[in-house]
Amino acid sequence: MTYLFGPVPSRRLGRSLGVDLIPRKTCPYDCVYCEVGPTTRQTLKRFEYQAEAIIRELAAYLRGSAAALDFITLAGSGEPTLNLGIGRIIAAVKEITDTPVAILTNGALLHHPEVRRDLAHADVILPSLDSAIEATWRAMDRPLPGMTLSQMIGGLEALRREYRGRIWLEIMILKGWNDSREELSALRRVIEKVAPDQVQLNTAVRPVVEDAAQPLSEEEMQAVADFLGEGAEVIASSPRPANAETAVSDARFIEMLARRPMTAADVAEVLGLPLELVQGRLERLCTSGLICHTLHQKQDFYYGQFNS
Ligand code: SF4
Repeated sequence: MTYLFGPVPSRRLGRSLGVDLIPRKTCPYDCVYCEVGPTTRQTLKRFEYQAEAIIRELAAYLRGSAAALDFITLAGSGEPTLNLGIGRIIAAVKEITDTPVAILTNGALLHHPEVRRDLAHADVILPSLDSAIEATWRAMDRPLPGMTLSQMIGGLEALRREYRGRIWLEIMILKGWNDSREELSALRRVIEKVAPDQVQLNTAVRPVVEDAAQPLSEEEMQAVADFLGEGAEVIASSPRPANAETAVSDARFIEMLARRPMTAADVAEVLGLPLELVQGRLERLCTSGLICHTLHQKQDFYYGQFNS
C-alpha cells in the first residue's frame, strides 16, 4: 500500500484505516513534539497530490477487506488539508463506504473558507490547538513566519459556526510548556468560544523531535482535564482493542512502523497477534536492519524508515 496504512490502534478513533494525503514531511508547522520527524518542507501553499491514485487504492482496499473499521482517517506525514484534492477524496470515500471519515488537522488552514468547504462532508474533524498564548504557540508549534495564533483560532471559530459534523479538539500538553494555570486558563477561554464536541488531551508518549518535549504523568494529565472542565478527557496511552487479524507479512510490520513508532504492545493490539509472537518478529526485523528501535520514556519503540 502506498497511501494507506494500518488499520492502526488509534487512541481516539478505535480501529482506524489511515490515509496519507501528503508527502513526508510537509506541514506549516514544525512542532517540537512531532512523531513524524522534523518538517522538511514547511509551507502554507496547497497543492495537488495524487488524489485519483489515493481514491483508487482506497477503493481496492475496501473491496478486498472484510475487516470492520471504526473510521477512515485522512491524515498523513504532514498536514492533510494542504492536499487540494481532499474534498474530492472525502466525496469518493462517501460513495464507496458508510464508514465514517475523520480528518486529523493542525487547523492552520481553517481560516480559509475553501478549506472549510472541502472538509464539510467529513464526519469528524480533529483539529489541534496547543496554546492560547502566542509566544507558547510559536515555541511549541514553530509555525511559518507570518502565521498568527489569532488567525488560527479564528479558523476554529468559523469551523464551529459552519460545520455540521463533530469537532474533537486535541491539545498536546507538555511538561513546563503549556501546563501552567495561566496557560490552561487561556486555553479554557478559547475552548468556551470554539465549543468543540470533545476536548482530547494528549501528551508526548511517543518519540518526539525535541527531547525538551516531555510528557506529564497520568495524574498530572487528569488534573489538567479536571481544570479544563466537563468534556475534557485524557486520550494518551489508551488504545481500544482491535479485531484479531492473522497472516501478517514482514512488509506489513515495516510499513506500519514507518508511519508511526509503536511499542510491541501497540503492534500486538492492532494486529490481534500474541505479544510474544510480535516481540519475536520485531527482534528479528531489528537484527536484519529492516526496522529500528529506540527507548523513550522507559518504553521500547520500534520504527521503520521510508525509502524516500
Ligand atoms: S502539525 Fe502535526 S505533522 Fe505538523 S509538525 Fe505538528 S505534529 Fe507534526
